[in-house]
Amino acid sequence: MSTTGQIIRCKAAVAWEAGKPLVMEEVEVAPPQKHEVRIKILFTSLCHTDVYFWEAKGQTPLFPRIFGHEAGGIVESVGEGVTDLQPGDHVLPIFTGECGDCPHCHSEESNMCDLLRINTERGGMIHDGESRFSINGKPIHHFLGTSTFSEYTVVHSGQVAKINPDAPLDKVCIVSCGLSTGLGATLNVAKPKKGQSVAIFGLGAVGLAAAEGARIAGASRIIGVDLNSQRFDQAKEFGVTEFVNPKDHDKPVQQVIAEMTNGGVDRSVECTGSVQAMIQAFECVHDGWGVAVLVGVPSKDDAFKTHPMNFLNERTLKGTFFGNYKPKTDIPGVVEKYMNKELELEKFITHTVPFSEINKAFDYMLKGESIRCIITMGA
Ligand code: NAD
Ligand code: ZN
Repeated sequence: MSTTGQIIRCKAAVAWEAGKPLVMEEVEVAPPQKHEVRIKILFTSLCHTDVYFWEAKGQTPLFPRIFGHEAGGIVESVGEGVTDLQPGDHVLPIFTGECGDCPHCHSEESNMCDLLRINTERGGMIHDGESRFSINGKPIHHFLGTSTFSEYTVVHSGQVAKINPDAPLDKVCIVSCGLSTGLGATLNVAKPKKGQSVAIFGLGAVGLAAAEGARIAGASRIIGVDLNSQRFDQAKEFGVTEFVNPKDHDKPVQQVIAEMTNGGVDRSVECTGSVQAMIQAFECVHDGWGVAVLVGVPSKDDAFKTHPMNFLNERTLKGTFFGNYKPKTDIPGVVEKYMNKELELEKFITHTVPFSEINKAFDYMLKGESIRCIITMGA
């Protein structure tokens, strides 16, 4: 029996209050409207951003809400005006989009779409501001336009990447956020040449993905910098060859790295969110050619301070959002990198839980035990 045009009743994990365990509820999911797609989610994973907004310590609280933005699924039905997707397509919903029509989408250099750029405050759909989720008529807010902690969700078609149907969704679902952010920061922005040295600041999921990019690019040395030495063992599996814990040194970490590398690393990628680490990541690159890339999201009042001479000495500082990938155009290609065994995803997946135990995924992340925990829907 076709569900096209009908309301679908299914299970969703609803966050009713900040920091309180999610509750499994039966929700109603309305059919997709203009330029929208309804997706049956098969696998989703948990990312730090979900946790930050669920905790709502530094963010505007918006509840009840359905979180989740790293996922893989199959299109169930499409709304009016959707021409590039159809029922049965294998897709990854993405937290930021590509309308195809704005100056950013027309620029080869940008992925910061005017219409569909990440918006953490929006709880409804762009088309009419309304939610497609409800419980007994009470609307439940969306998150990042994706809300993948639900067996079915509605997403703007500009936020849906159509991928190779042979790709295992339980693995490639992690490509929708953190993995691509770190990978793209190295491959698309830092662009190390084969044989160059790369320093990675912060060895969480994003930093490890940046290290994976350095491995793929053929970096000769990958130096991991983290304040938490427990991260180092795990990072070895990601090709990180040397470690620096700033706490183990009296000298500034820039100087430690300059001494290790005969004047500085060729490239650095900052994945911490700490402004000190951002400054260190810039100042540790070699003069003449070094490039530093900022990925971490700083605190509201942070300011970046360095001597202008560091720029005059031909160091470059860049920043990136979602690894400079355009979600619809480029993400299918990242999935292909996994399919042709260039990119390794398995090592990022440390845990798996059934949907009914989704709160365990939060525990693993809060304890710092997981890189990625896959949540299997329908289980
Ligand atoms: P995470 O918390 O898992 O990892 C961060 C690591 O940085 C930790 O291991 C921590 O010990 C280390 N660290 C913190 N301060 C440090 C310092 N001063 N020096 C060295 N190491 C330090 O986080 P994650 O999920 O890997 O995300 C990393 C950052 O990337 C976050 O700031 C996140 O908000 C950001 N992010 C940015 C984008 C983007 O598009 N630019 C997208 C996703 C995430
Ligand atoms: Zn656009």
